[in-house]
Amino acid sequence: VHQLILILGDQLDLQISSLQGADPARDRILMVEAEEEGRYVPHHPQKILFILSAMRHFAEELRQQGFVVDYRRLDEADNSGSLDGELARARQRWQPQAIRLTEPGEWRLLERFRQRQADWPEFQLLEDQRFFCSAERFRRWAAGRKQLRMEFFYREMRRHSGLLMGADGQSEGGAWNFDADNRKPLPGGTPLPQQPHFAMDVISLEVRDLVAQRFSDHYGSLQGFDYPVTRTQAEQLWQSFLEQGLPRFGDYQDAMAVGEPWLFHARIAAALNIGLLDPQRLCLDVQAAWQSGAVPLNAAEGFIRQILGWREYVRGIYWLLMPEYAERNALGNRRALPAFYWTGKTRMRCMQQAIGQTLEHAYAHHIQRLMVTGNFALLAGIEPKQICDWYLAVYMDAFDWVELPNTLGMVMHADGGYLGSKPYCASGQYIKRMSDYCSGCSYKVSEQTGPRACPFNALYWHFLMRHREALQGNPRMALTYRNLQRMDDSRRNALWDWGEELLARLDAGEML
Ligand code: SF4
Repeated sequence: VHQLILILGDQLDLQISSLQGADPARDRILMVEAEEEGRYVPHHPQKILFILSAMRHFAEELRQQGFVVDYRRLDEADNSGSLDGELARARQRWQPQAIRLTEPGEWRLLERFRQRQADWPEFQLLEDQRFFCSAERFRRWAAGRKQLRMEFFYREMRRHSGLLMGADGQSEGGAWNFDADNRKPLPGGTPLPQQPHFAMDVISLEVRDLVAQRFSDHYGSLQGFDYPVTRTQAEQLWQSFLEQGLPRFGDYQDAMAVGEPWLFHARIAAALNIGLLDPQRLCLDVQAAWQSGAVPLNAAEGFIRQILGWREYVRGIYWLLMPEYAERNALGNRRALPAFYWTGKTRMRCMQQAIGQTLEHAYAHHIQRLMVTGNFALLAGIEPKQICDWYLAVYMDAFDWVELPNTLGMVMHADGGYLGSKPYCASGQYIKRMSDYCSGCSYKVSEQTGPRACPFNALYWHFLMRHREALQGNPRMALTYRNLQRMDDSRRNALWDWGEELLARLDAGEML
């Protein structure tokens, strides 16, 4: 055997760097279902089903290309359960002249494979080229800057890619961002896109039974799995979004509604992150939809900002600052993650909705993650590691490179400000404005303290008071702190005391 090529579960792309120049006659592909990868955090059973099924479908695709795939199934008796363990055994089996692997998207695995590389001279780690910006390019961009801001990185990426740039080198529409147009609440009765459905085939059904057997101890339902597991299905989902979701994606990207997990969102992140879709193609399609007049600029820009801006920026930050990044805890938070994050058993309707649909679909959209479950964790002072592990476990699309900076940095403000120049903290008023959750809640969003008051309210002010030293010098927090200052003492004290009471209840393991 000339080359042994290891393909990981999030590298399901025929164009991946490790497959470039591969020769079906002489090379062998290794794919491994590793128990350890499903368990190092308790991944949602649908996420495990999704990745394993997509891997098995990809192995078929490779076989159709003439490759011999050495596929190690989870339930084979002699499967060692780890990626590097199986690689070592395949090396024995095949005695290859070279071993190739595209760099994993996770520091934990990269370190492990680097150790192997030190022992095995034939082992090559190749750059993952599925991104607009390489880790190296990001490092160069970051070097020497006093402050890193997504907005400036994004503008540079717009110029670099030419996306939504006019012939005169100016941004289309005369602005870099249309966020102000993209914060509309959803009027009741707005017709929503029809979602395509993906029935499970024989491969998915077999994997589902396996996951049911092996991972029944993990939170999350296996029922109703409805995700694309092949390139063709992912394409179908994408086309449906382009036609039905994208035109109003911008307007309603921050809106939330009871019982409506998808709204105008694309729900393609999972397929994108495992390699079933190509980010450059998606951005070009969106640009073309705008050019043809099918979608407004605020929708096209809003989407491209997510992919070309945020997605690339968080990846850049991850590789720039790992491994110490994972240990950051700028606000010194230590509280344990409340049990209701795993069960959805809470009286807060917004949390019930966001967590409930997470357990049901392994999905919540960005504002539910940032401003509901994330906001609560921030206000309650949950230890960053615990909430990061939760996000990594429960979301279909969560891989360490994308999940960690989003949670630790953006949600928890634990990285000192790389992902946001101020914390994304808000009282219940924000949730009321952007959703219809509050009207059916057991709590009253208009009340600040007392058993009927929305817990987000007192926790918000308590958060501001307890982190006054760290935050009040931030110019973007000045107005907020002036409001706090203007309050009379008795009101401030009442908010503090009720905040203390709520935190004590969380510490006692009580449900809120
Ligand atoms: Fe959430 Fe508070 Fe609204 Fe209830 S009242 S849904 S807890 S924001």
